[in-house]
Amino acid sequence: MNFTENTEIIELGNGIYARIHKDLTNSGIIVGDDSVLVIDSLRVPSFAKDLKSDVKKITDKPIKYVVDTHSHWDHSWGNQEFLDSTIIGHDNCYDEMTDPDIIENWRNTLDTSPLWKDADWSAETKIVTVTPPNLTFSNNMTLHVGDHEVVLMYLGKAHTSGDIYIHLPKEDILFTGDVIQKQRIPYLGDGHPKDWPETDSKIVDLGIDNFVPGHGDLGQHIDMVDAKNLIHELISATNTEVQNGRNPEETASLVMDSLKGNYGNWWGFETLSFQIPMVYEKLSK
Ligand SMILES: [Zn+2]
Repeated sequence: MNFTENTEIIELGNGIYARIHKDLTNSGIIVGDDSVLVIDSLRVPSFAKDLKSDVKKITDKPIKYVVDTHSHWDHSWGNQEFLDSTIIGHDNCYDEMTDPDIIENWRNTLDTSPLWKDADWSAETKIVTVTPPNLTFSNNMTLHVGDHEVVLMYLGKAHTSGDIYIHLPKEDILFTGDVIQKQRIPYLGDGHPKDWPETDSKIVDLGIDNFVPGHGDLGQHIDMVDAKNLIHELISATNTEVQNGRNPEETASLVMDSLKGNYGNWWGFETLSFQIPMVYEKLSK
């Protein structure tokens, strides 16, 4: 079927799809008897419209729910295209998406970053109406989308203050947002390094075999364990150098050396040179 360019839609089970967008942001589609749940609305309205048209190619059922895995722009700034749907997120996701300083910061970063400022969608980020979830929760919530039991879980702060996971217990699948990715270094700048390792341990302990991350390839339990180990090692090594009185740059270089053997070939490893100093700052508070 002809889906949006550079996207691949993989059916993981009856009516459960991962929409993998090459080099960009993934989403999920769960089709029930009479309605559809979408996981992440993507970065700008035109991306959300593409997602909606891909859903239409799979089913003519209406999108009743949108779930935001977390507040980040590339996952949730398409929400304004889903005003007929119930948009669900964590309480903290709502708080982040209604904080004018956070939104302004992202708009400025998107406008100036060499990574993004020249992308064909970047002009849209200036005019997005950032639209927070209209149904929020603090711990967990279960939806029944046709026969699919869909458990939304919050397990503590990690990549942001409001990351949630979408668990399909019968199908043994977890949608992990940006917290757990397969052999990729996540963005750490809005992270909570004092909480993230424990949150990752809780995810691994769920014992789920398959996951759909917010970026990159689908993963399995072993990849979850690897992602958890990276975060544990990175934060513990950074903390050690904070205690040793190193400065942020020395710390970045030492920690990268210690991680290189196991993680040097992961996507984004080189970003640690500017990401570790951000972790350093949070740990030294
Ligand atoms: Zn993110």
